[in-house]
Amino acid sequence: MAEKKMVEDITSMDEDFAKWYTDIVKKAELIEYTSVKGCMVIRPYGYAIWENIQKILDGMFKATGHENVCMPMFIPESLLQKEKDHVEGFAPEVAWVTMGGSEVLEDRLCVRPTSETLFCEHYANIIHSYRDLPKLYNQWVSVVRWEKTTRPFLRSREFLWQEGHTIHATAEEAIEETERMLNVYADLCENYLAIPVIKGKKTESDKFAGAVSTYAIEALMHDGKALQAGTSHFFGDGFAKAFDITYTNKENKKINPFQTSWGVTTRLIGAIIMTHGDNNGLVLPPAVAPVQAVIIPIAQHKEGVLEKCAEIKEKLSSKYRIKLDDSDNSAGWKFSEYEMKGVPVRIEMGPRDIEAGQCVIVTRHNGERTVVALDELEVVLEQKLKEVHDGLYNKALENREKRTYSCTTTDEIIEALKENGDGFVKAMWCGDEECEDAVKEKTGVCSRCIPLEGEAFSDVCVCCGKPAKHLVYWGKAY
Ligand code: ZN
Repeated sequence: MAEKKMVEDITSMDEDFAKWYTDIVKKAELIEYTSVKGCMVIRPYGYAIWENIQKILDGMFKATGHENVCMPMFIPESLLQKEKDHVEGFAPEVAWVTMGGSEVLEDRLCVRPTSETLFCEHYANIIHSYRDLPKLYNQWVSVVRWEKTTRPFLRSREFLWQEGHTIHATAEEAIEETERMLNVYADLCENYLAIPVIKGKKTESDKFAGAVSTYAIEALMHDGKALQAGTSHFFGDGFAKAFDITYTNKENKKINPFQTSWGVTTRLIGAIIMTHGDNNGLVLPPAVAPVQAVIIPIAQHKEGVLEKCAEIKEKLSSKYRIKLDDSDNSAGWKFSEYEMKGVPVRIEMGPRDIEAGQCVIVTRHNGERTVVALDELEVVLEQKLKEVHDGLYNKALENREKRTYSCTTTDEIIEALKENGDGFVKAMWCGDEECEDAVKEKTGVCSRCIPLEGEAFSDVCVCCGKPAKHLVYWGKAY
């Protein structure tokens, strides 16, 4: 059985992308299902990816002046109801605690779906003067949203995330913060996860419950569906008014401050899988791969092979995340196992390599083999990891460009999707919600965002023919 390849068991991504996805999350040992529907165990290999994302992002948050805090996980119903739009947006998917032991709670408690209300209550308590501003807070926690249909990482009832909640003296400062964090998320996706993103603003109908404006980064998955990878919201002073947060300014006037919130979730792991994965399994970007290179000994029973492999591992480990697999599985088994797990680089070392003072490096994303002298390995590995990152990014960008269609009528949208498959549709829009709904109904794509960069290519709305106000990216979304 040891020779049986693990990859025989995964569905081809071209045949059934959804099945391929669920096969990968299981076979690569990222998650396991539990007895609670929509709640998963994130296994060590999956959690290690999250920890790496967390480390990178947390560093970026600290570098931009943010501090971590921790709010409680329960929100009293009376508190949740203070901001009308917010409660309306979240009520359908809230889980409630109604009993404490054997006692029925007077004010039932919601398990946080997001923590704006808790932050607001806290800010009302600690902010009094302009000297108390700004507060740049973030927390790393899990939240609960009672979704009807669930999929590992993409949509689960409990998920891990970070939520930033900041409060500022002026609207300008808060808007600047909203944009800054959108850029931080884009930086993470593009320069660490190798996922190209479109930065944009959500339309009115698609913005966060209680926000003045919502910004998002949108990525295109391998199958041509869009995935919202992160959001950043500007709240104006709406929450501050609802929660009676005020500060005294330098002129001794009482003023409501301005707020933001922003978040990314374990959904990013889903984005990595669906952007980079292939028919042999997961393909991980080096910056977040739990193992950046795996050393696989060839003919490891031969004298000196394991010793040399261990020596190389030791040497590389000061700079990289390295694993040496000295288990008694066959080399072929190991090859497919680490292909399935998406390890960016494989280092093969057998008796003849050792004798010649070399090894073979194989890069996961393109299967390219390179013979490398052992005393150059440390330097070459760094180049290879960079090559993998660039290779993944460029491939994802190519896929997105190939699947981005500029259309001037709804018929053209239908035609483009039929001809070339799902993807981003770029089309002009008058700003009318009716047209936004009509495009969705007629063509199946919904508005993803109004891009911050990008040029108008037509003067009229794709739907009604009236003067166009915005360029919009449309797509089918996860
Ligand atoms: Zn229109």
